[in-house]
Amino acid sequence: MEITVLASGSKGNCTVLKTEAVTLLIDAGISYKRIKGHLATQGIETTALDAVLLTHEHIDHVKGLERVLQETPATLYATSATFNHLHEKTTKVLNPERHQPVHSGLSFMLGNLIITPVRVSHDAVDAIGFIIREGDKTLVYMTDLGYLPAEDYPSIANADMYIFEANYDVSLLFSSARPHYLKRRIDSVRGHMSNTDSAYHMCHLIGPRTKTIVLAHPSEECNTARHVLQTYRDVFRDYQRNLDDYDIIVAKQHEPISTVIL
Ligand SMILES: [Zn+2]
Ligand SMILES: [Zn+2]
Repeated sequence: MEITVLASGSKGNCTVLKTEAVTLLIDAGISYKRIKGHLATQGIETTALDAVLLTHEHIDHVKGLERVLQETPATLYATSATFNHLHEKTTKVLNPERHQPVHSGLSFMLGNLIITPVRVSHDAVDAIGFIIREGDKTLVYMTDLGYLPAEDYPSIANADMYIFEANYDVSLLFSSARPHYLKRRIDSVRGHMSNTDSAYHMCHLIGPRTKTIVLAHPSEECNTARHVLQTYRDVFRDYQRNLDDYDIIVAKQHEPISTVIL
């Protein structure tokens, strides 16, 4: 599979994943125009889009969703709670016939992919991440999570690639000018993952197969590539791991990262 994180962060999230059999988006949190433009640079026609896998209903994950579903043949894979929330509680007009309900813990096939939604702890109605398998290759996609229980480790350990949240630097967050309630929300178990927690979990997840780690959903105000890489380096050293053994990529809000081929 070929994976390109088109945009990542609180202003919009979208990743394109392409195999010989299927082309899909994970989230559609940037404008349809931008999605279409990015797909064009990769030689992908919008008519080739098979699916959108949706993590949750927050605007930075659904901004372009309505138009993607109007303008392309893509089916929306989302939990029923997330779909119903978008359908009933927002102005988004989504055709229920284009919705394929998914359930955390229940794998489904999409082309040659086996996809397993995983529930994550976040302040959304039913937020999920995804384990995506093609043959013996596995991608784990998890952003927007305030907490990761150790019980989840076995199902997501030793993946070939992780796209995993490293949202904020703890000291930058608490010294920022953000209102206190917002700091508490971000730092809560239903908020976002700090660089330190992200690195700690990653030390327990990586295995002999692991090659690529994309540090995702960075905060623009409370994180920098320098901060997250330094934290990862320090925490990996504490757990006798060497960060240089892995391809580490810090995702960006306003430009795509280079395509990773698994
Ligand atoms: Zn988000
Ligand atoms: Zn969110």
